[in-house]
Amino acid sequence: MIELNEEQRIILNTVKQISLEKIKPRAAEIDEKGEFPWDTVKIFAENGILTPLLPEKYGGIGAEYLLFAMILEEISKVCAASALILIAQADGMLPILYMGDEALKERFLPQLAEGKLSAFAATEPGAGSDILSMRTRAVKKDGSYILNGQKCFITNGSIADIISAYAYSDPDKKAKGMTVFVVEKGSKGLVYGKNENKMGMRGSINSELFFEDLMVPEENRIGEEGDGFGNMMASLKSSRLFTAAQAVGIAQGAIDETINYANQRIQFGGPISKLQAIQFMVADMVAQTEAARLLTYQAARYLDKKKKNQISKFCSMAKFIASDTAMKVTTDAVQVMGGYGYMKEFPVERMMRDAKLTQIYTGTNQIMRVVAAREIFERKID
Ligand SMILES: Cc1cc2nc3c(=O)[nH]c(=O)nc-3n(C[C@H](O)[C@H](O)[C@H](O)COP(=O)(O)OP(=O)(O)OC[C@H]3O[C@@H](n4cnc5c(N)ncnc54)[C@H](O)[C@@H]3O)c2cc1C
Repeated sequence: MIELNEEQRIILNTVKQISLEKIKPRAAEIDEKGEFPWDTVKIFAENGILTPLLPEKYGGIGAEYLLFAMILEEISKVCAASALILIAQADGMLPILYMGDEALKERFLPQLAEGKLSAFAATEPGAGSDILSMRTRAVKKDGSYILNGQKCFITNGSIADIISAYAYSDPDKKAKGMTVFVVEKGSKGLVYGKNENKMGMRGSINSELFFEDLMVPEENRIGEEGDGFGNMMASLKSSRLFTAAQAVGIAQGAIDETINYANQRIQFGGPISKLQAIQFMVADMVAQTEAARLLTYQAARYLDKKKKNQISKFCSMAKFIASDTAMKVTTDAVQVMGGYGYMKEFPVERMMRDAKLTQIYTGTNQIMRVVAAREIFERKID
C-alpha cells in the first residue's frame, strides 16, 4: 500500500523483530503487574528508536511522521503500553522541538534519544477538555519563574527527566497568556502525588504532579511568554496522529489473534472460521481497520507536507475514527473468541482495555468531533 525506501524498510523490519521477540513476551506481565518496562526503554534507546522524529543532529533518526506512525502501529500490535513510551516521549519532546531556541534544544533533546524520558503536562483536575480553565500560574521573579499548581494523569509524570509544563504567565490574556516551560527532575518544589491505578495501558505510569513554589530558570522557557497555547495545540495535533496509529495497531493485533484462533477453534465438527457469522464479523473488523489505517496515513502525510489547512481536521478525524475502530474491533475479537476471549490467558481482553484509552486521551473523541466540525464549517479555503 505504501512505497517505503530501503532505509525505512530496514527501520520497520527492526521494529517488527523487536516487537515480536522482546516486547510481545513482556506484554501480559507488565499489564498484570502494572509495571513500567524500563528494559523496553533500554531496547528502544539501543536501537535508536526512542525518539524517531528527532533530527539526526539531536540524536534521532529524523523520521517522517508517516514512518513514526508505522513504528507505533507495529509496536501497538503486540503491546500498546510499550508504544505509549514512544508517544509520551514525543509529546514531551515536541514542545521543545517546535518552539524552543537552539540552546534549549541542544541542552535537552539529545539526552531523550539516549534513554532519558520526557512528559507533557497540561491536564489539571479542573481542566481537561476545557484546558483554558487551567489554574497553574507562573510568576516572573529575579530571572526565574515561580510555578504553582497541580497537574494530573501525566504519562511518565513521576519518572520523566524533563517535563514540558504549561502555566498561565498572564491569566487575564487567556490563551495568549499561557507559557510553557521545561521542568527538570529534582527541581525543588516539584512534588509527586499518586501514580494512577488504571483499567488498561497498565504498563505505563500516570502521575499527579504538584508545583509548590517551583523555581524554573528563565532559560527553561520554551519560546516566548504567551506562546504556550499555540505550542500546546501544535503538539496535540501531532499527538492525535500518534494515538490514531496506536489504535490502528491495537485493532490489527486483535484481528491477527482472532483469525489465528478462529482457524483453530473447532465447534460443530469444524473450525469456527468456516461459519459465515464469524466470517462476516472478521470481514467488518478488517475493512474498518484498513479504512482507519488509510485515514491515519493521510493525516501523517499532511503533517509531513505541512499542509496547514488539512492537519487539524485530518489528525482529529484519524484519531476518532481509528480509536472508535479499535474499540469496536477489540470488542468483536473478544466475541469471536467466546469465553476464551474474556480470559487473561489470551491478549484480546487486554487489547480491549487498552483500546478504551485511545478514545479518551489527547482530546476525547467528542472533542475531536468538535475540532473536525469546526474545521469543516468554519475554514473558508480547503
Ligand atoms: C491514561 C491517561 C493518560 C493521560 N496522559 C496525559 C498526559 O500525558 N498529559 C496531559 O496533559 N494529559 C494527559 N491525560 C489527560 C487527557 O488528555 C484528558 O483526560 C482528556 O483530555 C479528557 O479530559 P477529562 O478527563 O478531564 O474529561 P472531561 O473534560 O471532564 O470530559 C468528560 C466528558 O465530557 C465530554 N465533554 C467535555 N467537554 C465537551 C464538549 N465541549 N463537547 C462535547 N463533550 C464534551 C468529554 O468528551 C467526556 O466524555 C491523560 C489521561 C489519561 C486517562
